[in-house]
Parts: sequence; C-alpha cells; structure tokens
Amino acid sequence: MITQYHRPASLDEALQLLDQPGTLPLGGGTAINSPAYKGQDFAAVDLQALDLKRIEAKGNMLEIGATASLQDLLENAHTPAALQQAVRQEAALNIRNAATVAGSLAACGGRSPFAAMMLALDAKLTILSNASSTTVGLGEYLALRPRGLITRIDIPLNVKCAYEQVARTPADLPIVAVALVQWAGGRTRLALTGTGNAPLLAMDGTESDGLEAAAKNTFHESADQWASAEYRMDTAATLAKRCLAAVSV
Ligand SMILES: Cc1cc2nc3c(=O)[nH]c(=O)nc-3n(C[C@H](O)[C@H](O)[C@H](O)COP(=O)(O)OP(=O)(O)OC[C@H]3O[C@@H](n4cnc5c(N)ncnc54)[C@H](O)[C@@H]3O)c2cc1C
Repeated sequence: MITQYHRPASLDEALQLLDQPGTLPLGGGTAINSPAYKGQDFAAVDLQALDLKRIEAKGNMLEIGATASLQDLLENAHTPAALQQAVRQEAALNIRNAATVAGSLAACGGRSPFAAMMLALDAKLTILSNASSTTVGLGEYLALRPRGLITRIDIPLNVKCAYEQVARTPADLPIVAVALVQWAGGRTRLALTGTGNAPLLAMDGTESDGLEAAAKNTFHESADQWASAEYRMDTAATLAKRCLAAVSV
C-alpha cells in the first residue's frame, strides 16, 4: 500500500524522490491501487504536476507525454485508427480517463491490446534515471522493466497499421490478438498478445513474407486456461493474414 505520497512540481524533484528505495512513480493510479500492489509498502511520486501530458506530431513522429491519458491518446487527431482501436479494447472509458500511457505500458500484462500495438509500432521510450536520459524500444523495456521515469513515448506516423483480436465478448481483453505495422519501405513488424506476461514480437522484417508462419511459431507454447496452443497458432495466423490485407489496400 501507499505509505507516503509526494506531488513534485519539477522533474528534478521527482527524480530525487524516485532515487529513494521503495519509491514508485504514480501515473493514473489505476493499477497501483489494485490488489497486485497490496502486498508491498511504497512511497508514491505523483506525476500529475510535471507537465508531461502533451501529445505533439513532429515530422513523421508522434511524441506522447508519459502522463497523457489513454483517452487523450484515443481522441488525438494524429493517433492512427488501429492504435485508437487497440486503446478502446484496452479498458473502458472510466479507466481510460485515469490511466496514463506510460503507466499502462509499465504495468501491461500479456493480454494488452495497447502494448501490442505500441510494440508493433516500435515505440521508443525516453527514460530518466539518476539524472541520465536513455531511449529504449518498448520490446527492450518489456524484457527488463527497468526502474526509471518514463517521460515520453515516440511512435512513427508514416506507417500503415492494423489490429485484429478474438475475445470472449467484443469488449473483453483478447485471447488472441495481432498488431501489424508496415513502413513505406516494406519493413513489417508483427506483435501478438493474449497470454503470458507481455505482448510478444513475432516478426520485424524487411518485407511481409513469412508473416503467417511467424505468427504461428510465436504462439507455439501458448497453452493456458483460456486456449490451447494449437488454437492460438491457427487464430494468430488467420488474424495476421487479415491485418496484412488491411494494410495492403
Ligand atoms: C477497474 C479496473 C479495471 C482495469 N481493467 C484493465 C484492463 O481491462 N486491462 C488492463 O490492461 N488493465 C486494466 N486495469 C489495470 C490498469 O488500469 C492499467 O494497467 C493502467 O493502464 C495503468 O495505468 P496508470 O497510469 O493508472 O498506472 P499506475 O497505476 O499509476 O502505475 C502502474 C505502474 O506503472 C508505473 N508507472 C506509472 N507511470 C510511470 C512512468 N511515467 N514511468 C515509469 N513507471 C511508471 C507505476 O510505478 C506502477 O508500477 C484495470 C484497473 C482497474 C482499477
């Protein structure tokens, strides 16, 4: 549970506070207040006064401030339609209004439509830690979930994207979902979600050849209480094919 609450007015102050052991950034607070965090005591550093909410298109990139809400991103005029769809699938309106973009990536599980789409987009995270700034791809971030304050997330705008999912009901989190992004030069990134601890990168190639096989192979050992591996492999291949058709028009 939260044992201390801080609301710094500057990044410097926030970083000093976050340097202390047992201290976590607080975005929208929707995950941090959940039972998953109940077993630990920690100090929370609320980011809301830090002016990290802006979403700006710069050239071919969209720069998304860490504390922009999922709903801010959904409503932004530059947000690609497939990303809007993934954000809509991530959570209902009340949660989208509170949950931040950075908090959602930091806390994402293996059934996150939003994180899968951001992984396919090869989102780059700017992370401040010990007064140094690094930029890491979301895939690298999800593998290690390092400490540090995410301040910005950048995604490309000069791409075609598609998202497809299968779930128990239209608004439920996916059992199998596929996010596909294609750059003008042919680069193709495919991410899958629906099981495990984080979305998986199935392919990052110079063209789309082998897309269905990559989708199948990635879910080779994906059996859980929701679906067999065979079901996920076949469904992912079908959804990947549909996504490819969608970006090819
Ligand atoms: C009723 C309810 C329903 C939910 N439904 C879903 C759902 O359907 N799907 C789903 O995936 N999740 C769901 N969640 C979980 C939660 O809403 C999401 O994980 C949410 O997107 C987290 O965003 P946040 O900004 O609220 O994060 P917070 O709770 O503020 O933080 C989450 C984690 O991210 C870290 N963090 C926050 N900001 C930063 C930053 N800038 N830099 C580094 N680390 C940071 C925090 O320290 C913490 O570890 C639900 C929660 C509730 C309460």
